[in-house]
Amino acid sequence: MPEERTQHSEDSKGRTGPQELRGSVATFDRVEEGATAIATLSIKNHEVFESRVRDRSHVCPACGRASVHRFLYRKNGCDILRCEQCGLGRAETMGFDPESYYTSDYFSGELPDGYADYIGTENILRREFAGTVEFIRKFRASGRLLDVGCAYGFFLHEAKRFFDVSGIELAEDAAEHCRRSGLNVFTGQADETLLGRLGTSDVTVLLDVIEHLPSPRDTIALLVNHLDPGGIIVITTGDFGSLYSRVAGAHWRLMTPPQHLWFFSQASMQAMATSLGLEVEHLDHPWKVVPLSLISFQLTRMSGLRSKRIAISNRLGLPVNLFDAMRVVLRKPSR
Ligand SMILES: [Zn+2]
Repeated sequence: MPEERTQHSEDSKGRTGPQELRGSVATFDRVEEGATAIATLSIKNHEVFESRVRDRSHVCPACGRASVHRFLYRKNGCDILRCEQCGLGRAETMGFDPESYYTSDYFSGELPDGYADYIGTENILRREFAGTVEFIRKFRASGRLLDVGCAYGFFLHEAKRFFDVSGIELAEDAAEHCRRSGLNVFTGQADETLLGRLGTSDVTVLLDVIEHLPSPRDTIALLVNHLDPGGIIVITTGDFGSLYSRVAGAHWRLMTPPQHLWFFSQASMQAMATSLGLEVEHLDHPWKVVPLSLISFQLTRMSGLRSKRIAISNRLGLPVNLFDAMRVVLRKPSR
């Protein structure tokens, strides 16, 4: 059998001949079954054509190259595109302002894509963060540690048993909460001014933060400049190349633009590291203890319902691994 897909049909004058199914030009007038098949094919080809039209060129913040970005789908009014070079996903947003979004509402269940009750789940989060600190100490046992996007400081409180810690947080309420608990935390974005005041660090962590940054490459490059040689950057984020992400498409639990703007895969993480002169020292998909209230909150959101209040205890947590989130350790070479 030849590989080429051809179909025999009669034209309007009754002549029979092979007709290549190349696009929406193929038509069937008489054979109804065939007409349905062709119509379906036409729509499909039309969709492919449509999405090709919506492809566009961007400079990718992961691989750093100007490349074609394939249009995948629309979600929450944002176009989702993927870099052809490295696989990084990007959400194109219209006028999203992070400063007005990341307020206390984001952490207290007032926004559908935020946290159910961040402060209420402190015990579970701190147990989880204690595990993260243990993990980090395999790569760097002590020194100065900076947490970018430190929220209410739960991670910093676990880390300060071994490290000299400081943090940066955009949400004023959260940053203030940190300072009241005795932590050295600045309000704002990780820019040159703030990092200049903080000095260099041995360990920089971004826990579920990189996907929110307006310019992740610029931010990571700045953080690399303020990292001591031999120091590490620890990043946790979703894995856009994971099975769950690929199967679920627009319905993936972490596909939540405009809060999530970037969707890294292992390849795009590797590309970013290499192009910024970092080495990928470790990459895995860790198990995580997740508060039951957050699981319920996310399930409610995905089912399209709006939950009033979460009745399930904040003290309960479940070990979860959908293998769609990764933990990466990047090392700045010591020279
Ligand atoms: Zn790329």
